[in-house]
Amino acid sequence: MVNYTYNDIIMSLTEKLTEQGFSNAHWEARELAGCALGINARGRIDGKAEATPEQIQSCALLLARRLSHEPLQYIIGEWDFYGRTFDVGEGVLIPRSDTETLIDAAKKLCADKKSLTVIDLCAGTGCIGITLEKELDTAEVFCVEKYDTAADYLKRNIRQLESSVKPVVADALERKTAESLPKADLIACNPPYINAVDMARLQKEVTFEPATALDGGEDGFDFYRGIVRIWADRLNPDGVMLFEIGAGQEDEVMEIMIQAGLKDVRVRQDMAGINRVVMGRYIESRNVNLYEQLDNK
Ligand code: GLN
Repeated sequence: MVNYTYNDIIMSLTEKLTEQGFSNAHWEARELAGCALGINARGRIDGKAEATPEQIQSCALLLARRLSHEPLQYIIGEWDFYGRTFDVGEGVLIPRSDTETLIDAAKKLCADKKSLTVIDLCAGTGCIGITLEKELDTAEVFCVEKYDTAADYLKRNIRQLESSVKPVVADALERKTAESLPKADLIACNPPYINAVDMARLQKEVTFEPATALDGGEDGFDFYRGIVRIWADRLNPDGVMLFEIGAGQEDEVMEIMIQAGLKDVRVRQDMAGINRVVMGRYIESRNVNLYEQLDNK
């Protein structure tokens, strides 16, 4: 009987993935092998170690899943976001590096603020809310997620990352959800924002992710309209609302925020130079009774 080493396995996985046109085949092969062999591929793999028949079988199963274009992140069951590892799997959106732009924007806006109340809407894995809880000076952070499967990942990530975030299983588009939470200094949201045309031509990998986390309605803006309507007046004075947006959505989302009376409405680009985050501030203004001034004259 031939004894195969870990190196043999990684070579074979790389070859199959390359044949099927996967880019980064070697890197993916190491990730898959690390998972099948029960070791962290980001650590060291001892290439000369001998694989057991069970490990080889497990590699074959993971390879078959990947060749069906299931996302690598679902297969290995975790993914890194802003330097921390989050559990992921079917039923929850995979954290994207683009979304780190939102964290950078929040850090910059809140650099000198203390004891913030933060709300993350459509939270999914909780990557935004949990990261903000770790990176900012917060008093309370709430992650609102509607769907049970996603909320299970959220709760698991809160536990594993020893976060004080409070999970709220509720619909961000319902006013009673907003009214059940305290007013916030920061409301962050990466809503579903893909329009109907693009939903019909998603990359195969993305079709494995929940449509409920992607589908932003006919024009892609349903959640921006609904969330701004319900949540803009749940900001404390000087509080900030921050959205991730899809490429080319900045004008419409800025307009929705301006119409709702938010001020300082601005965009921030991601690493690829795409406008990725839109932010607006709630500035309290009191009405000066000008007629009264005339009467007093
Ligand atoms: N960035 C995701 C994608 O284009 C979409 C996530 C979302 O709709 N919020 O695949």
